[in-house]
Amino acid sequence: MAVAYKDYYQVLGVPKTASEKEIKSAYRKLARKWHPDVNSGNPKEAEEKFKELQEAYEVLGDPEKRRKYDALGSDWERASERADEQRRHRAEQERTVDFGDLEGEFGANGFSDFFDTFFSQVGRRRSAAADVPRRGRDIEGTIELGLRDAYAGGTKSLTLQLDDVCPDCGGTGVRENRICPTCHGTGRVTTAKTLEVRIPRGVRDGRQIRLRGQGGRGENGGPPGDLYLRVRLKDDDVFERDGDDLYADLPVSVYTLVLGGEVRVPTLAGDVTMKIRPETQNEQTMRLAGKGMPHENGGNGDEYVRLVARLPQGLSERGRELVRELAELHPV
Ligand SMILES: [Zn+2]
Repeated sequence: MAVAYKDYYQVLGVPKTASEKEIKSAYRKLARKWHPDVNSGNPKEAEEKFKELQEAYEVLGDPEKRRKYDALGSDWERASERADEQRRHRAEQERTVDFGDLEGEFGANGFSDFFDTFFSQVGRRRSAAADVPRRGRDIEGTIELGLRDAYAGGTKSLTLQLDDVCPDCGGTGVRENRICPTCHGTGRVTTAKTLEVRIPRGVRDGRQIRLRGQGGRGENGGPPGDLYLRVRLKDDDVFERDGDDLYADLPVSVYTLVLGGEVRVPTLAGDVTMKIRPETQNEQTMRLAGKGMPHENGGNGDEYVRLVARLPQGLSERGRELVRELAELHPV
C-alpha cells in the first residue's frame, strides 16, 4: 500500500514561498467557503474538502511540520516505502503477539495516510520551548491468551515490536536539514522489547494490563509513558466461557447413558471421572462445582458439561435385530 503524496500548498492554493500570514489567511478563506455548515447542498464534498484543508493547515501552519514536509520533498516516496515496510513488519508481528492496535497511529484522526505516515506522532502541539521535558506517550497493545493461560495466570515473557519516537531526530524525521538516516524520515523506529507480563488468574477478555514505564520514550529527560495491554482471549476447542463458568459438550456412548457408568471429563485442572446414572437422557447437563475459571477475589466458577449421545454406526443384521427388539420392548 503506497501512500499518495499530498501537495498541501496546492490544497491551500499558495506558493511554496508563502509566508505564515498568507498561509493562515488562505486557510481561513477556504475553510469558510467549505465549512460543512454552509454547504448543506453538497455535504459529502464539503466535508472531504474541509478535512483536506484542515490537514494541509495542520502541517503548513506549524513551522516545524512545514520544515519537515519541505525537507521530505522528492524523498517522500522513499520515506513512504520505508513506512510501509515498518507497517508490514508490524502486521507480521501481529500474528504472533498481535501488537497491532497502536491507537492514534494510523488513520485514527481521520486524516489521510500520508499525513498519518509522517505527522501523527509529531502532531501534538509542540510548545515554544523545545527542550521542555515531555512524558513519553502511552502505548496500547493487545495480548492474545489461550483460556488455559488465563486459568493458570502467572508471568509470561513476551517480545513486542514497539513503535517509538526516533531517538536520533526526536520524531521530526529531519536532522541537520536532511532526512534522518536512522528512521528514513518517518520519525519512528521499531524496536524489539522483551517484557515480563504478569497475567492475573482468571483474567477476562477485554481486561487491560498496565505496564508502568514501558510506553513511549520521554523527550528531553521526561519520564516514559505506560504500556497498556488489552487481553484478548482466544476461543478454546473444548470450553466456552460465560463469566467465570465454563461450558463443554461431552460425547458419551448411548449405552453408557442407558446402562449407567463412568466417563472421563476434561477440566482446566485435568481430567476427572464422573458417574453417569442409568437411563440418563441425551443432552443432560451436569455441573462440576468449582471447576470453572478463578474468580478475581478467590474461589472458582463452575463447569457445566452437556452429555451428547453417540450412536452406533455400521450395524450388522444381528445388531439391527436387537435394536428392533429393544424398540418393541421399550418404545420411546
Ligand atoms: Zn529519525
